[in-house]
Amino acid sequence: MLMKFADIVVDITSKQVDRPFTYIIPEELEEAVVPGVRVNVPFGRGNALRTGYVIGLKSRSALPEEKLKPIDSLTEKAVGIDEELVSLAIWLRYRYGGTLYQALSVCTMSRMKVEARKERLLVFTGTDDQLRDQLYKASLKKYKARERLLNAFLENRVILASLASDRLSISASTLKPLLQSGLVVYRTVDTDAAEKGDAGTAGGFGRPEDAPELNSGQKEAVRTVLTSEKPVSVLFGITGSGKTEVYLELIARCLEAGKEAIVLIPEIALTYQTVMRFYRRFGNLISVVHSRLSKGEKYERFEAAREGKIRVMIGPRSALFTPFKNLGLIVIDEFHETAYQSETVPRYDAVETAIKRASFSDARVLLGSATPPAEYYERALRGEFNLIRLTERAVRGAVLPKVQLVDMREELKKKNRSIFSDALREKIREKLDRKEQIMLFLNRRGYSGAVSCRACGLPVTCPHCSIALSYHRNGWLQCHICGFSMPMVKECPECGSGLIGTFGIGTEKVEEMVQEAFPDASVLRMDADTTTGKNGHQEIIRKFQEQEADILIGTQMIVKGHDFKKVTLMGILAADLSLNVPDYRSAERTFQLLVQAEGRAGRDEIPGDCIVQTYLPEHYAIQAAASQDYEGFFEREMVFRNQMNYPPKGHLLSVTLSGADRQEVFQAVHELVRQITAEREDESYLGPAESPLFKAKDMYRYLFYVKSRELSRLLKVKSRLEEIGEALLKDSKIYLSFDS
Ligand code: ADP
Ligand code: ZN
Ligand code: ZN
Repeated sequence: MLMKFADIVVDITSKQVDRPFTYIIPEELEEAVVPGVRVNVPFGRGNALRTGYVIGLKSRSALPEEKLKPIDSLTEKAVGIDEELVSLAIWLRYRYGGTLYQALSVCTMSRMKVEARKERLLVFTGTDDQLRDQLYKASLKKYKARERLLNAFLENRVILASLASDRLSISASTLKPLLQSGLVVYRTVDTDAAEKGDAGTAGGFGRPEDAPELNSGQKEAVRTVLTSEKPVSVLFGITGSGKTEVYLELIARCLEAGKEAIVLIPEIALTYQTVMRFYRRFGNLISVVHSRLSKGEKYERFEAAREGKIRVMIGPRSALFTPFKNLGLIVIDEFHETAYQSETVPRYDAVETAIKRASFSDARVLLGSATPPAEYYERALRGEFNLIRLTERAVRGAVLPKVQLVDMREELKKKNRSIFSDALREKIREKLDRKEQIMLFLNRRGYSGAVSCRACGLPVTCPHCSIALSYHRNGWLQCHICGFSMPMVKECPECGSGLIGTFGIGTEKVEEMVQEAFPDASVLRMDADTTTGKNGHQEIIRKFQEQEADILIGTQMIVKGHDFKKVTLMGILAADLSLNVPDYRSAERTFQLLVQAEGRAGRDEIPGDCIVQTYLPEHYAIQAAASQDYEGFFEREMVFRNQMNYPPKGHLLSVTLSGADRQEVFQAVHELVRQITAEREDESYLGPAESPLFKAKDMYRYLFYVKSRELSRLLKVKSRLEEIGEALLKDSKIYLSFDS
């Protein structure tokens, strides 16, 4: 299927997307014309050349070919930041689906009128003695918020007011007495002073005296990113190996070169401590965006970036669209995190999108992680990206925790049916007696529909796809990839045991059991229920950090990026539950989660312990996680991916149809598959089947998969599906997503 035609929008004024016109793609431009590219086209009666954006490609045209005009030529590269972001939006739509309007709303912000409000600073004006005196008084009276603020002043006498309220939860009433005493004053930011590098009042741009000298590995990392011909680098470094110091140095170099930088950090790890590290280095040249900002606040910060008043933007994935005019660097920390995938249309992947955006402005991209996704590691090994390794902890003496695997099948044989193995119970007691802190991680990414065996630990999997089957209310087990189904089993197909079923236990239940087993311990719980409210989750973190509790129980949330210095035991309650997720990445996600969880224990001088409870201690993801062996994991994982043609060996396009009329969706999905398979080249089709979430919000969903070696082939299939869908679908909607 040759893409002979292009849909071109001649005039895009930010939100108002004109009707597209169809043009013929001349042969010599076939390669170059892709969505997002700007072209010159003859337009109107006089055929005067006008600039337009290519927004889509088509294999056939509704109008007869003789009525169409050919594209004249390509336009110079985008000249302004707005054009660049529009191009990015068009690419986003092409790559991830949705409408152009949705893509434009993600990439560009419509102009708003905002009051020119200057960022304010809080400055402690007193002496060191006065500061310590205040701290002492605050701690006597247990004024926790005030203590927090004063502690922050101890590190830096100047703090961004927005940072104090956003990230430290400092309220007006906390500030009031300090402001009244005159020890703390408000000052407006003097951006000019900061630009000149006046570190004085603004805490401006400069290297703090206590910043560590980079070690040789870190220096090499900086050199590679700056000088390599390859624009993208993967920084594979264990927790605490000094990745953040590398980011800071690179950003400094980038600013020195007159360019700007974007730093993506998963929202949950965007804590005061993290932001402060950047602030101490770059002062008010940085700004932060996060999801709780109002539209106006976000716009204000983006405008400051456009005007060059701030030059480093830190935030979760949406910070990627900061309108910097001279972008030099994009850093993505913990780039394996699922938070970098948007959950709303267009479901873009921020890592991929960052690489695309960087290519527009010749910026460098640095992807940091202790557990890089297998696809990226493989592409780096193949030489597509630079691969930089940091294999040791940067602080001398800091060691990784001791990890002990506990086989829960053995506990069962000992008639121990509680959620605590004997080993974990003893360790918790020991740590409580020593007044050290404990975290209990309930791995609940487990898909509730998965069925597994308690005797041998294995999930019941699809014979064709090697992923877990899911249980349907009608009593059948089904594969959501290929549609295979069979009646629910009574005995384990592997070992014959009858101890089979769906397992799932909530954090609340765990809390109850902890209280029962350790009545003297004080317990905090962090999950979706306890973190509602504006600062819910920051508040729990703060309490635990300030040692108001001995044990913190929680789901994934507790293992991401927090630094609890006094935690010396991490107990992982059900390590293998996430292996049962019906997703080809379940082993990788399990490995990532476990390594991250293990990294939470013993971050200070006291060595930490980690106990991993599992029904499947022999699984390679669990074995490798216990010995923190990334390479070992990667090798095994690649065998699996290659065998099954999963990425990076092949690519997967999932197509979901959803609609209110079950019969209509059913027929539409089959018709769609019939038409698209008639044009089949090298790709294969799986399904259609009911989607794992078959009925949601009164909408029925069916899905099928398309597999191919080449992503480019799938992109073409996707364009065709959209074309066919347009003619075929009435009330059903089509959703497409790659490799997920
Ligand atoms: P990561 O981002 O990889 O987890 P960090 O950059 O946060 O690692 O570094 C971990 C700790 O090691 C921090 O306390 C940091 O100040 C310290 N550190 C980093 N680099 C060095 C260095 N070259 N020399 C001494 N300490 C360092
Ligand atoms: Zn079994
Ligand atoms: Zn299957």
